[in-house]
Amino acid sequence: MTYLIGQPRVSAALENALAHDRLGHGLLFVGEAGVGRERAALGLAGALLCERRGEPQAAPWGCGACGACRRARAGAHPDLHLVMSEAEAVRRGRAEPDGKRRPSQDILVDALRDLSVRLRMTAYQGGYRVAVVVDAHRMNVNAQNALLKTLEEPGERTVVILMAPHERAVLPTIASRCLRLSFQPLAERDLRAILGGLGTPDAELRARRARGSVARALALDLSAASGGDGDGDGVKALWDALLGEAGDVGPLAACLDAAEAVGKERSDVEQALTRLEQRLADAARAGAAGGGTPSWRQASALLERVGRARTAIAHNASVQLALEELLLGRGLAARPATR
Ligand SMILES: [Zn+2]
Repeated sequence: MTYLIGQPRVSAALENALAHDRLGHGLLFVGEAGVGRERAALGLAGALLCERRGEPQAAPWGCGACGACRRARAGAHPDLHLVMSEAEAVRRGRAEPDGKRRPSQDILVDALRDLSVRLRMTAYQGGYRVAVVVDAHRMNVNAQNALLKTLEEPGERTVVILMAPHERAVLPTIASRCLRLSFQPLAERDLRAILGGLGTPDAELRARRARGSVARALALDLSAASGGDGDGDGVKALWDALLGEAGDVGPLAACLDAAEAVGKERSDVEQALTRLEQRLADAARAGAAGGGTPSWRQASALLERVGRARTAIAHNASVQLALEELLLGRGLAARPATR
């Protein structure tokens, strides 16, 4: 079975970079959580540390069978350094919580200074040293500057892999020193295959609803109490915010909450708007048949507004602006500069 499912372009690009020795010292794995960035990072670490490195079957993810590959894939190889926030380390059971204070959600400068020291030491096994920064966007500015120094003067056979939701999540000076690989949301059939392989119950249903992310699929609440009609929180929040407004502009807080719930990912917003249109169309039909809330007139007017937002997004407008215009009924000119 393929090691990395559903990301053929990433696999091909890495294979090519390895074959031509063009991997460089920095890699930026861009994509949302649950699409394979970490699996790819650990697999690539395995490939660099693999005892059969250089043999054709070891590219791009290592042979997968030797001790080095197995330890790297488990995140437990002495020449593989994982960097993450304290909160994430506690969540994964890699660190003990300090009872006196909440673990930091940020990756702090000390973690990167420590990494730089460890990357300067001789590799335990005499080969590569690999660092993976999980959620690189959680590095604060000091931490990013410390990492930048490492990227500016990397040791020989040192590779740093950054995982981030998008390229702009790290400083441009960091991004420009990295080979960027873009991870796409997984196709439903790939998601189904991965969930099936994990033995997840309701794999079929989860794959259908999770919009391309294993993390989202595993986190889905399929109980009847969660609504059950397949609408995410975003659709419900949009619905409430739009119908809460009798006239032109609804309560600002509800609108901002709705925008927050839908998120900023283009595909999430498009999907939420599609579901919202379906619900409004159903409501308009019910309204036309007499009665029901919203009325046919209100539902039709809202349908038109949602349609405009969808068109704007389809024509590459900023999703955030399109959402704000939909919810607040106004355009860029009236937008406060603070948000
Ligand atoms: Zn191996």
